[in-house]
Amino acid sequence: MKSGFTKSRQLLLVAVVLLVLILSNGAFLWREVSRLQNDALIINYAGIMRGSIQRACNHELAGRRAGAAFEQIDEIMSNFEERKPGFEIKMFEERFFKELQELKASWGLLKEQIARFRLSPDAINRERVLATCEQCWVASNRLVFATQYASEAKLDVLEYVFILIVLNVIAVLIIIDLIRNYVRQQLEFAAHHDQLTGALNRYSYSIALDHEIKRSRRYGSPLALLLFDIDNFKAVNDTHGHKAGDSVIEEIAYIVKGQIRDSDSLSRVGGEEFAVIAAESDRGRAAAMAEKLRGLIQEHRFRPAGRVTVSFGVAALRPDDTADTLFRRADAALYRAKEGGRNRVECA
Ligand code: GH3
Ligand code: MG
Ligand code: MG
Repeated sequence: MKSGFTKSRQLLLVAVVLLVLILSNGAFLWREVSRLQNDALIINYAGIMRGSIQRACNHELAGRRAGAAFEQIDEIMSNFEERKPGFEIKMFEERFFKELQELKASWGLLKEQIARFRLSPDAINRERVLATCEQCWVASNRLVFATQYASEAKLDVLEYVFILIVLNVIAVLIIIDLIRNYVRQQLEFAAHHDQLTGALNRYSYSIALDHEIKRSRRYGSPLALLLFDIDNFKAVNDTHGHKAGDSVIEEIAYIVKGQIRDSDSLSRVGGEEFAVIAAESDRGRAAAMAEKLRGLIQEHRFRPAGRVTVSFGVAALRPDDTADTLFRRADAALYRAKEGGRNRVECA
């Protein structure tokens, strides 16, 4: 019982740890998704700068003033540098600002060349404007790609985080199912067993005996019932206390469980009275088993009670027996063992 509850507590702990992991992964995912929205804005502004520079060049080379485009480009650049709201660069700052500085330098040069072209719109100045405009195209392109790559790299990480969350959720569901099964097993065990000794309780004893009688009849195999009761147990309680009495009951059950076969069962049918349903055992074999158990208990030294003995009543199943008559004959034999001086085996 105890180890089962400890195990379910351990599973609960693992589930809690996994839940914390899911929540922290979820928070990370949430933060990154909102950052991705910011990335989209930045890619958009970088694209506007790229297009506006080309548009400004075209206008100026065609003899039209493009002052508004100049102002827009300058404003976006300074917004980035001043990290105005909506222009905050996160994660890929270093590379972004390196590309931005290169673009800014080319853009500064382009503005000077456009001013010169306005004063003397000859072929040489035109060529200069065109060459620097190309430089600006390359630099602004690099800026756009830098933000795109960084954003896509983030998406890859998000995919892994998402897979991790799904795996965590599956693990939590499995653990919850395991805990449920454990709790159900523990409740079933508690309903059918005695808490102190782990032996079957009186209710399960009746079911087990009925089952074994049916089985014995169907296969024609022998069946025996051993009843035993601790001798002078009141004195143990009176001398050493109720707790010491409990530990005697517990130890005796432990000794007996260690000796009987898997097909046999031990039940606690009264305060300090037990029954062993011995499958495939006739009267002689059951008596020998009882004698062996009696001897082992007699040899055992209980702490602090010391020497404790038990008396046995043994009965083998007869064709006309019911569970009740079998029990009564074993009980009558046990009574004779007590009357005969205790610490002995009597057979019906
Ligand atoms: P006898 O040899 O005739 O069986 O003598 P006895 O003293 O064992 O007499 P009886 O069977 O009448 O007394 C059983 C005592 O066992 C009485 C009761 O207080 C005690 N007892 C019953 N259940 C428990 C238990 O779970 N723990 C403890 N410590 N004592 C119990
Ligand atoms: Mg007794
Ligand atoms: Mg008794």
